[in-house]
Amino acid sequence: KLYNQVQDLKGSIRVYCRVRPFLHGQSSYMSTVENIEEGTISISTPSKYGKGHRSFNFNKVFGPSATQAEVFSDTQPLIRSVLDGYNVCIFAYGQTGSGKTYTMTGPRQLNEQSQGVNYRALSDLFYLAEQRKDTFQIRNSSQKGLSVPDASLVPVASTSDVLDLMNLGQRNRAVGATALNDRSSRSHSCLTVHVQGRDLTSGTIFRGCMHLVDLAGSERVDKSEVTGDRLKEAQHINKSLSALGDVIASLAQKNPHVPYRNSKLTQLLQDSLGGQAKTLMFVHISPEPNALGETISTLKFAERVA
Ligand code: ADP
Ligand code: MG
Repeated sequence: KLYNQVQDLKGSIRVYCRVRPFLHGQSSYMSTVENIEEGTISISTPSKYGKGHRSFNFNKVFGPSATQAEVFSDTQPLIRSVLDGYNVCIFAYGQTGSGKTYTMTGPRQLNEQSQGVNYRALSDLFYLAEQRKDTFQIRNSSQKGLSVPDASLVPVASTSDVLDLMNLGQRNRAVGATALNDRSSRSHSCLTVHVQGRDLTSGTIFRGCMHLVDLAGSERVDKSEVTGDRLKEAQHINKSLSALGDVIASLAQKNPHVPYRNSKLTQLLQDSLGGQAKTLMFVHISPEPNALGETISTLKFAERVA
């Protein structure tokens, strides 16, 4: 058993990169993304001596034309492993405006095609639960026993129950408008789903859980031109993101010391990061030349955890 855990560890961290398309009115810009091939993304970087290039390798790179369905189909096996009792964490990382919320939830005007990972994951789990009736229970909650103030554990019966809760969560989410994007919220948003099942032959009960985390924007503080409380908040966020990077990097390197205690975020997710748990990090890239600095730092962050 222990042997399996160790064997599993390396394969249990995946990193997918997703490049957002240009938004309307921007198509005349040159993309900083030069080439995408399976798991490799090449970025063009201006240099003193002419144009330079940098390549980064990941488990998968989704280009600007990748659909929500394509992205989900590479995520689905991980999500289904929750029903085998695994703990799963899926993170969306990237600067504000790079497409994190698009990947996890979808655009503001949602239709079936544009639904993101959250919706598809829940529909899939409820679909499978229905197929294995009387065997599964799915509930949306903050994790039991965690000290999240005012968090509640709520039984749910359908995807729409969960979506109602997600909307409530969105309304409760502290939103601070920044100079970059007034829709952006500088906070992490986490949807946790607990699944409990029973092996029909042995009768054994097992539990799995899935955390879907839309992280706060990773951009450096100065860009948002913030001061006072907003500045403190931004520094706090950057600290928690780098703590998350440190934890995942230690796990990827099989480092025996994993620094979970350096942030609330990693403390909360400790049981679902490492060990038998499976982690997927989506890193998001904006294609615009003026995002190049953030693009490179996002790719470096991701390279460290891949
Ligand atoms: P973030 O959550 O990282 O701040 P958003 O998900 O809000 O970024 O994306 C910024 C804008 O770009 C939104 O209008 C969103 O709908 C759009 N967008 C992001 N990714 C895509 C994509 N893959 N295809 C089409 N539009 C996208
Ligand atoms: Mg967002």
